[in-house]
Amino acid sequence: LLRVNGLTRAFGGRPVVDDVALQIAAGQVTCLLGPSGCGKSTTLRMIAGIESADAGQIWLDGALVQDGPAGLAPERRSIGLMFQDFALFPHLSVAQNVGFGLKGDKAVVASRVGSLLERVNLSGYGEKRPHQLSGGEQQRVALARALAPKPRVMLMDEPFSGLDNRLRDGIRDETIALLRAEGTAVLLVTHEPEEAMRVGDEIALMRAGRIVQQGAPYNVYNAPVDRAAAAFFSDIN
Ligand code: ATP
Ligand code: MG
Repeated sequence: LLRVNGLTRAFGGRPVVDDVALQIAAGQVTCLLGPSGCGKSTTLRMIAGIESADAGQIWLDGALVQDGPAGLAPERRSIGLMFQDFALFPHLSVAQNVGFGLKGDKAVVASRVGSLLERVNLSGYGEKRPHQLSGGEQQRVALARALAPKPRVMLMDEPFSGLDNRLRDGIRDETIALLRAEGTAVLLVTHEPEEAMRVGDEIALMRAGRIVQQGAPYNVYNAPVDRAAAAFFSDIN
């Protein structure tokens, strides 16, 4: 469903993302795992089309959406995005936030928003403002908004890291289960090996702009490609 080949980007002559290749099937979760500054967010932003690429190709559902520096506008890619700061509009209601990108007949949009809120267990919250909701609830509003255009691919950049520890695992697991059930391909950025081990069907281990290892969590954990990879996983037991 999502295929990336040779994706490259430099800032001020310094390569930040260097020849990255990835492939994610429908209903599969790939975790992009690596230390701070290794280029995870930049990779995600290029796939979303909100950062330009120097080189490489991106295919979505078989269609070429990025070829070198040329690419489709973000809103024309079938991609949903979730970030750490949920970036809800504070002056809009929950329902208006969820329906923000939806066009068309008011009644149709309202019923779609209603069913999205139901899916994230927030029926009855439509008229509230974001600040009246807990962090976990706001995250679910962000999920509903990201699902609104029915994206085939969901890109998530540490969307759970701002949540309280107790809430976090539950919300993360529910979100991932929902996306899997919809057959969405998920690329989840994290710098926590434990999270990647728990939710990933595959882990892509990134370091200094390159993917140094990719495979099933069990294999990446048990057969790290080098000492640095082993050290990165060593806090988990
Ligand atoms: P973190 O885990 O801290 O979020 P990351 O893996 O997401 O890190 P990126 O945000 O992709 O890392 O950044 C990779 C490198 O590229 C960093 O050194 C960053 O300073 C640099 N960088 C990112 N965006 C820009 C930009 N617009 N201009 C210049 N340098 C940038
Ligand atoms: Mg980042």
